[in-house]
Amino acid sequence: MTDAIPQLAAYDDATLDRAFATLATEVTKSVTSEDPEAFRLHWLGRKQGRLKLVSDAWLKSAPAEARKPLGIRFNQLKQQIEAALEAPAANRQVYIQNRIDISLPGTVRSPGIPHPLLTTMDRVVEVFHHLGYSTSLGPQVESDFYNFEALNFPPNHPARDTQDTLQIAGQQSKASRDRLLMRTHTSPVQIRSMLAGPPPLRLVIPGKVHRNDAADATHSPIFHQVEGLCVDTNITFSDLKGTLDHAMRALFGSAVKTRFFPSFFPFTEPSADVQISCIFCGGKGCRKCKHSGWIELLGCGMVDPAVFEAVTAERRRLGLDPTPYDPARISGFAFGMGVERIAMILHGVSDIGHFYSGDLRFLEQFA
Ligand SMILES: [Zn+2]
Repeated sequence: MTDAIPQLAAYDDATLDRAFATLATEVTKSVTSEDPEAFRLHWLGRKQGRLKLVSDAWLKSAPAEARKPLGIRFNQLKQQIEAALEAPAANRQVYIQNRIDISLPGTVRSPGIPHPLLTTMDRVVEVFHHLGYSTSLGPQVESDFYNFEALNFPPNHPARDTQDTLQIAGQQSKASRDRLLMRTHTSPVQIRSMLAGPPPLRLVIPGKVHRNDAADATHSPIFHQVEGLCVDTNITFSDLKGTLDHAMRALFGSAVKTRFFPSFFPFTEPSADVQISCIFCGGKGCRKCKHSGWIELLGCGMVDPAVFEAVTAERRRLGLDPTPYDPARISGFAFGMGVERIAMILHGVSDIGHFYSGDLRFLEQFA
């Protein structure tokens, strides 16, 4: 099966590549799993081995500058032949055909890490799990009823202007309560949860929300919230304060203080904004807290009786027992916070866009 040694017409790279490719194919074809010794002698035999013959024919007449490229290709061919000899007999043909160099180390794949936003969201959720809260989830495409109406944002009410909403197209023929939109907050899951079962409820609701906001250093049209809802008999504002005070210390350290300011949300009454003492300066005042010593972090309040009334009316409409959410019998509180904002504070990130860029130089810092 020994062919004549092909003659080299020239010593340029293309000619050499062609000539050695022919030889490599010949090696592949001549591999036999039955008789490796014959294969070895055929190619590597000291006097009449084919590699020796080729070397004699090509190397000796080669000009000086062609010696190096020729030598490199000879070595590669020799390695291919040796790899074929070392491979287990049954696999020899496969190794050769696939040109796998089994002496190379394997490909190392890095296992990846959870995204810093997910880690932050999990961290917040875990704090509330320890307080006996369970997790509830809901759809990102919501109806107007769950996202607004049941949460005390009546149709055409100016409170809706505070959440620039992405509407789903082609909904004009539907009743206003059934029109679909991208949820602007995680609060619709409060309504879904209250329709799903009676109190007591202690829920934490993480998720993605959408608003038609222009992207800048602190805004993104898609962001993440964690919302909380507690409904039971005799829930008071001091329960809300105690819960959030504990949660903030669990998240940011036991030295952190909280303070509450009057605010407005349609679905809570009274409502409050919560600030924590600056975790960078301990409250003395620095650039991060704009020299106030405090950082604004979340919104909260007692569930507005109008929300319980909407839930009661909807339960009646759906044929469910309307009594469990009678606002005369129960009370509750709700709170919500932005995951991006917390992650930015925890990690000292100045531009929200880093979280979505997919830039490994940024993400690898959280590995
Ligand atoms: Zn500060």
